[in-house]
Amino acid sequence: MLIGVPLETAAGETRVAVTPETTKKFVAQGHAVNVQSGAGLAASVTDVAYEAAGATIVDRNAAFGAELVLKVQRPSQEELGLMKPGAALVGMLNPFDKAGLAQIAAAGVTSFALEAAPRTTRAQSMDVLSSQANIAGYKAVMMAANQYQRFFPMLMTAAGTVKAARVVILGVGVAGLQAIATAKRLGAVIEASDVRPSVKEQVESLGAKFIDVAYETAEEKEAAVGVGGYARPMPPSWLARQQVEVAKRVAAADVVISTALIPGRAAPVLITEEMVKAMKPGSVIVDIAAGKGPNGPNGEAGGNCPLTEAGKTVMKHGVTLIGETNLPALVAADASALYARNVLDFLKLVLTKEAGFQVPLDDDIVAACLMTQNGEVKKV
Ligand code: NAD
Repeated sequence: MLIGVPLETAAGETRVAVTPETTKKFVAQGHAVNVQSGAGLAASVTDVAYEAAGATIVDRNAAFGAELVLKVQRPSQEELGLMKPGAALVGMLNPFDKAGLAQIAAAGVTSFALEAAPRTTRAQSMDVLSSQANIAGYKAVMMAANQYQRFFPMLMTAAGTVKAARVVILGVGVAGLQAIATAKRLGAVIEASDVRPSVKEQVESLGAKFIDVAYETAEEKEAAVGVGGYARPMPPSWLARQQVEVAKRVAAADVVISTALIPGRAAPVLITEEMVKAMKPGSVIVDIAAGKGPNGPNGEAGGNCPLTEAGKTVMKHGVTLIGETNLPALVAADASALYARNVLDFLKLVLTKEAGFQVPLDDDIVAACLMTQNGEVKKV
């Protein structure tokens, strides 16, 4: 099969869906790989490295004109126009983006959104949400440490003692766990909150403290279990108690990293303006949820703090708020390496040497990721 790898054109996107490592594997399986010239440059992969791995360097039209196009982000309407009807597309296509999927369907392209893969053991090696959230959690701490005007570790020096930074992590999924681990390595003192009580043990195993909020009613207990490992919206009674506990920690914090998301919904507001006002001057908030999920009921564009501005770093009430929306793209080489392996593993389900390209709908991962086929949107 002819595989095309175009240069990503979305603003700030530095990643690439195929690396020389995965190119070699595709070529060994008998496929041809057409890489657009410069596609890997922002991730430190040269055209020469792709050629050495067996790829052919081509122009944009030839990359999009392949039978199977591998992307990081959804192609633009204009780029979809370069694809052949009946071709296949794999990428992070945003399964909740109705209009975007309709465009792909109208182009006659069979598409798979890797974010829709179930969070099961078998799907782990192709779990792009995890591979990229892990990087986001790491980079968020790096950005906070860079912005923060003090040390993270406690230091005892001849010139006096420096206290360790107090870090609060809100939302302990994949990104939150990596943020805890990274801040811990830098010597910070960490507290973390999540709606799911199952997270407590993981937080403690990383040497952080879990912010306990009791589950008092049957409704609260039921919601806390979540669904498929994901959080569900919690009753207002629990959220109010959580806010009291979190507010105390945030007021004493030097750095807050917030990652709380609920699939398909606006990110929950966990850090109010009043809480920001109560923070110490020079504190830093990294809002990983900025710009994620659909807009909220009042048009707010994601974020766990309403003062965050998606894509920007701003200072408000003496606190720096970092609203970077594509943290993995700031670690382009490793983010691409992990993403490319996720793509390679997913393709093993639909692309075999013997049978060529097939869409086996009895496979739960393929069925979950399939977004468009025969001109139709399969699900939103
Ligand atoms: P996510 O990005 O959807 O959300 C981040 C975190 O925010 C979650 O832990 C969620 O519980 C939390 N959150 C939501 N509302 C909150 C609130 N009001 N206050 C505090 N926290 C709130 O999560 P994710 O990183 O995608 O992980 C989701 C789940 O999937 C986790 O249970 C994770 O362990 C699981 N997972 C399973 C596999 C696997 O088995 N293959 C792989 C990766 C992740």
